Amino acid sequence: MSSLLLRQGRIIDPANHRDETGDLAIVDGRIAAAIPAGQPFEEIDCRRLVVAPGLIDLHVHFREPGQSAKETIASGARAAAAGGFTSVVCMPNTSPSVDNPSVVTWIKEKSEREACINVFTTGAITKGIAGEELAPIGSMARAGIVALTDDGHCVQNHELMRRALEYARMFQLPVLDHCQDYGLVGKGVMHEGYWSTLLGLPGWPSAGEEMIVMRNILLAGLCETPIHCQHLSSGDSVRLIRDARARGVPISGEVCPHHIALTDESLQGYDTNFKMNPPLRTRADIEALIQGIADGVVTILASDHAPHCAYEKEVEFDMAPFGIVGLETELGLFLDILVHKTKAIDLPRLIALLSVEPARLLRLDRGTLSAGAPADVTLIDPELEWTVDSAAFQSRSTNTPFQGWELKGRAVRTIVEGRTVWPPQPAP
Ligand SMILES: [Zn+2]
Repeated sequence: MSSLLLRQGRIIDPANHRDETGDLAIVDGRIAAAIPAGQPFEEIDCRRLVVAPGLIDLHVHFREPGQSAKETIASGARAAAAGGFTSVVCMPNTSPSVDNPSVVTWIKEKSEREACINVFTTGAITKGIAGEELAPIGSMARAGIVALTDDGHCVQNHELMRRALEYARMFQLPVLDHCQDYGLVGKGVMHEGYWSTLLGLPGWPSAGEEMIVMRNILLAGLCETPIHCQHLSSGDSVRLIRDARARGVPISGEVCPHHIALTDESLQGYDTNFKMNPPLRTRADIEALIQGIADGVVTILASDHAPHCAYEKEVEFDMAPFGIVGLETELGLFLDILVHKTKAIDLPRLIALLSVEPARLLRLDRGTLSAGAPADVTLIDPELEWTVDSAAFQSRSTNTPFQGWELKGRAVRTIVEGRTVWPPQPAP
């Protein structure tokens, strides 16, 4: 395998508290101290670029098996690479769902053959993600899942959730949870408040999320087992997690770009590309989420990349599926909102939230530029101004509310184990 020398970039490696201008060598797919004398190498000029550990998104839906018209593992991986991500973690709500070791093996083998980046998978907490009976957690752990979640759904039976945590602890698997109380949320399709009343749409109250965040705090404390709350949308969820963490409870949370970029006001046009679960909320929620990111309560950022076909979204608002594609706008939105506009965090912290932090939670051997580590590297131009164009997406789906947005900052090259996977390279 050829060697690569990334010349004179700003090397930001939060795992090693490193932020300096210099050269980074890659030899045989791994980060190296230097290129051995006499070995040929390709040189890339990285002046004005940031050299970061390959970004990790721990919350994506790649729709295989079962719904390849929306996305495949190959197309989802290309979308991830185009967005600067070298590793992703798939949610288990495929068809069939990932609730047994044979589906885990199928996804792993297909990813190894067809994906240009590292694709990891979670396993379901319950059989068929139905919330009634535990899935075979031990055999899925042996097959190689990196976490447990019923994402898309939420285990309502607290005793069942407690047993899931006890198994997870035995197999050292993190538990991720989509926080939604079915009783409170009912048929809600948007944030319950002024705009849901005005638009005549069923409301999804913030308390529907906070109730399960609180349940998770109590169970994480009781079982002394970490729970990670997925895609937080409510400001009070952040406050609950802040208080619990201060008391030493092993609870954490993630935030997605749309929940800090948009409010429920944007639903006025009944455009289903603004329909997500949990829903877009208020300006006050956005401020609390950003505050949580700034003060270290929120430790992970993710996309919740959820592709859907155009015909599925082109229906009445109540009927449309929840979710948007996110991998190709994620880094741009986070850079633009968190680093440039609000200055809530600096660039090294942003990179940590997208690399070493998710790697730590899931115990992945990624997210660092240490010598000897797999050479997953993302080159970022933090000042590059660009316009979102869904027609140019690598994803099979284009369901985005950010079409035409002007953003500042994006990935310009994505390298996985020493090989450039984005932009596409001419055949040798
Ligand atoms: Zn979810």
